[in-house]
Amino acid sequence: MNPTTVAAFPARTVDDIVNRAGRSDFDRWAEQVTRCGHCSHPVRLRGRVEHRSVTGRRVAYSTDGEPDRVLLIRCGNRRAAVCPSCSWEYAGDMWQLLYAGAAGGRKGVPETIRSHPLVFATLTAPGFGPVHTTRADRCGPARCRPVQGKPRLCAHGRPTWCTAIHREDDPRLGQPICPDCYDYSGHIAFNWHAPELWRRFTITLRRTLARQNGLTAAEFARRCRVSFVKVAEFQRRGVVHFHALIRLDGPGDEYQPPQISIDAAGLADAIRQATAQVRLTVEMPDGHELILRFGTQLDTQTVNGDSTGELTPEHAARYIAKYATKSAEDFGLGERRTTPEAVALLDVCDHVDRLVRTAWQLGEHPAYEGLRRWVHMLGFRGHFASKSRRYSTTLGAIRAERRIYRQRQAAKDVRELIDEETTLIVSHWQFAGVGYLTAGDSVLALSAAARAREQRKAARDAA
Ligand SMILES: [Zn+2]
Ligand SMILES: [Zn+2]
Ligand SMILES: [Zn+2]
Repeated sequence: MNPTTVAAFPARTVDDIVNRAGRSDFDRWAEQVTRCGHCSHPVRLRGRVEHRSVTGRRVAYSTDGEPDRVLLIRCGNRRAAVCPSCSWEYAGDMWQLLYAGAAGGRKGVPETIRSHPLVFATLTAPGFGPVHTTRADRCGPARCRPVQGKPRLCAHGRPTWCTAIHREDDPRLGQPICPDCYDYSGHIAFNWHAPELWRRFTITLRRTLARQNGLTAAEFARRCRVSFVKVAEFQRRGVVHFHALIRLDGPGDEYQPPQISIDAAGLADAIRQATAQVRLTVEMPDGHELILRFGTQLDTQTVNGDSTGELTPEHAARYIAKYATKSAEDFGLGERRTTPEAVALLDVCDHVDRLVRTAWQLGEHPAYEGLRRWVHMLGFRGHFASKSRRYSTTLGAIRAERRIYRQRQAAKDVRELIDEETTLIVSHWQFAGVGYLTAGDSVLALSAAARAREQRKAARDAA
């Protein structure tokens, strides 16, 4: 940290930094920060590890000897906006899971999985009214919504066009051209019912594949299974869409190939047909029926198992893992239940404010019971990442593997303390809080994280 950066902090923070750095246990504190991966909000634990054997009881480790008498462990948050370090770890785990199911040869999935039809699909939401957007044509970046024919004002006297060429960081992106024309209840209803719409899609896909192969549903189930992993992502306008890897397997638990004649292109075709057919009719508070469906902007790409095609299993896995760390937090709503009154105090744009108020109003209606608990998610209550049972391994299994690895590493450190195999290890842990003790500690942890990144980069460049 150079002197000018220090000068940018409040005097109190500078004092904290100086105090921490001047302590005799600073090196150990810095080591702990490194060990928890420079987590932004580490959990502080207090406790001890005892070894009990026939000869008696001995404290092998105690946080009494640690800086501030605590041990720092990772917060484990999935969201990049909350903890970059832990979200990277989460994205890494997701990638392992996705890649195992796409390429095989790991995590109990055989390499023969590469020959199964596999498609990377993006199912979008329909339009709820024109929003500001980035576009490109053959000449490069294009105008947002050019005038079509004779310029026309909407019923609220606003232009129906926008001739701006928006930059990627333009705050208008995703906001309606006219908020009064925009269908806010339809938008929230879509987010709320999106998990059911996805479920119906998987059923329709099975039916479509059965029909194409001239099979009954029961015959199809005996020959083929649809496995998938999907991630929900919020688009800029605040509506969810799904990215999914969809694969066909045979029956049973051994990742056999499907016993129907179909390739990845055929599967992509069936996905397109099924997506176009899915409908969900829901009742709105004013009594009218709303028919929900996916948007026409559907994308399907076949994934090439022999890694020669455009989209390899590696690419597809990386693409979906990236989305797994995003959330509604990008809209500034935080990660807990909230109310329109609380949101009014936050610095959110008018569009998000209206979405929140609409969700709150809809939540009053019996058909939308529970919606008020999901206002901070703009009405989306589904899992951000989910998979069918046999796609590949689970996140839990990947975490358990890493935990064992870390325990082995830790065991190596205290090996000399362990006398014999019959020693019983007893741990007593107590929650002491979340986050660093002072703003100064956070700053030190952040700058240590930045240094570690630079060192890794330098090592990569040198290699
Ligand atoms: Zn963390
Ligand atoms: Zn625009
Ligand atoms: Zn209007």
